[in-house]
Amino acid sequence: MTSSSSLLLIYTGGTIGMRQDASDQTLKPFDFSQILDVVPEIRKFATRIDSVTFNPLIDSSDVDPGIWQKLAEIIRDNYEQYDGFVILHGTDTMAYSASALSFMLDGLTKPVIFTGSQLPIGVPRTDGRENLISSVEIACAKDSEGHALVPEVCICFGSQLLRGNRSVKVNAEAFKAFQSPNYPKLAEAGISIRYNTEFIRKPLDWYQGISINTRLDTRVSILKIHPGITHSAVRYFLCDPGTRAVILETYGAGNAPSAPWFIDTLEEACRQGKIIVNVTQCLTGAVDMGIYATGKSLEKAGVINGHDATTESTLAKLFYLLGKSPENQWVKDMLVRNLKGEITK
Ligand code: ASP
Repeated sequence: MTSSSSLLLIYTGGTIGMRQDASDQTLKPFDFSQILDVVPEIRKFATRIDSVTFNPLIDSSDVDPGIWQKLAEIIRDNYEQYDGFVILHGTDTMAYSASALSFMLDGLTKPVIFTGSQLPIGVPRTDGRENLISSVEIACAKDSEGHALVPEVCICFGSQLLRGNRSVKVNAEAFKAFQSPNYPKLAEAGISIRYNTEFIRKPLDWYQGISINTRLDTRVSILKIHPGITHSAVRYFLCDPGTRAVILETYGAGNAPSAPWFIDTLEEACRQGKIIVNVTQCLTGAVDMGIYATGKSLEKAGVINGHDATTESTLAKLFYLLGKSPENQWVKDMLVRNLKGEITK
């Protein structure tokens, strides 16, 4: 840890930034330019803390790729002036935003830490204070050579530091609201913060500049398989001419119904050039289409293996890859590669 770090706090909205108004007890947005008065503890970790507040503030249910572009631009424009970035964000779509930023920021050598809270920062028993203090400490942490300890896009929540594109919101009430089911925690905050250094991604070149990819193609949909799913629903999703890619949320290790109409529809969509990615509905584990006949027929139809990726990061990866190229074959080739630590390969 160094005390000479500088930090940019970006407040987008969400529960964390609410304060109870003493006059009428209603929740009002908190002014983050005053953050040092309310959470003076963070002064210990950085000599300079500045903040940017979105206007209007957004509930994260309203997050869209335009917000991700704005975040990427703020980070790029301020990159040289700060050692780390903390993004205060609603929890509902935090895993999507953290996944998206991990693909949109290239050459990252500094921490970008998303955090939020289940209870507003201005109410008793809030989890917002601890989440914010740990995020600031992590965003300012450096090794003995002065490099960032965590040069990744992460989520810091409920005393855990998780890789952003491995995270999932798993609890609507508990303070430990996020998990990274297929990848170890990057750190755990207890009496001190214990880093799992061997699992943290390190850049190949610490002195490369950052560049951002803001061109995203959102022609993607998600189809969750379920018993009783109808032919017309499957057709609607897979053969829609306005869609370039479909994430198929399948059972277990990547299985789906074996009914001929289902496989025929998949084959037809693949023939049309659609990109269909198989991810599992299970929280933990990976797709392996070689185990059961039902999985094998998906593979034969041309479905791509999503491995152990979350749905959130697969969606973000598709937006990013489709935005990079009109060539669906190139996108398919890139999908199965581990680009930012989002799949185990
Ligand atoms: N609905 C809120 C949001 O995601 C909930 C939260 O902040 O946790 O913005």
